[in-house]
Amino acid sequence: MKESILIVEDEKDIVKMLDYNLKKEGFKTSAVYDGEDALDTANKECPDLIVLDLMLPGMDGLEVCKALKSASKTAAIPIIMLTAKGQETDKIVGLELGADDYMTKPFSPRELIARIKAVIRRGKDKDKPLEVVRIGGLKIDFLKISVTVKDKPVELTAKEFELLKTLIKAKGRVLSRDYLLDNIWGFDNAVEIQTRTVDVHIRTLRQKLKSEAKRIVTVKNYGYRFEYED
Ligand code: CA
Repeated sequence: MKESILIVEDEKDIVKMLDYNLKKEGFKTSAVYDGEDALDTANKECPDLIVLDLMLPGMDGLEVCKALKSASKTAAIPIIMLTAKGQETDKIVGLELGADDYMTKPFSPRELIARIKAVIRRGKDKDKPLEVVRIGGLKIDFLKISVTVKDKPVELTAKEFELLKTLIKAKGRVLSRDYLLDNIWGFDNAVEIQTRTVDVHIRTLRQKLKSEAKRIVTVKNYGYRFEYED
């Protein structure tokens, strides 16, 4: 079955370029040029993924994202946001509103298609229970709480393991330092523990993961995500 992508962008040239490249990859596409139509079409067609530009006439991309994610019918549709350089804050807000990924313009269609495929695949894996995960040279056994890199055991502290598990469970979504802090360290020690704690543990975790350290990607001024692709 062909997966359907809804393109939301008012710049016709970009729509044309995306439409052409997505069809060539075997996707079914539809396109709308403003936010109101995006909500209508998303409701009617329930696409497998939405490519949503931030800068739209009338209702902007962030409002569209918020509306889609707060309506039960459309909440599960993954969204990749398109942002322009310098829209750093909007990008962060978008991720907090539930966008699954973002691309900064100008971008290559090839890169966007790789992201689209990754996001769709992640969605399909979502319901599987987490037992043993193999990603590149990394193997994590969530039941035995053990990690190996290229078949060599890696000794992680409880917090490092929790950190790795939380990042993997997010299926590539970016997690903020505050989120990681609240979920792994909890509120109990809020006074002493600061977001820097997260960075310190990320650093030791990366050192221990050696050749697989590259999978823990820093998202500047925000947090971290886990990279599945090689
Ligand atoms: Ca635009």
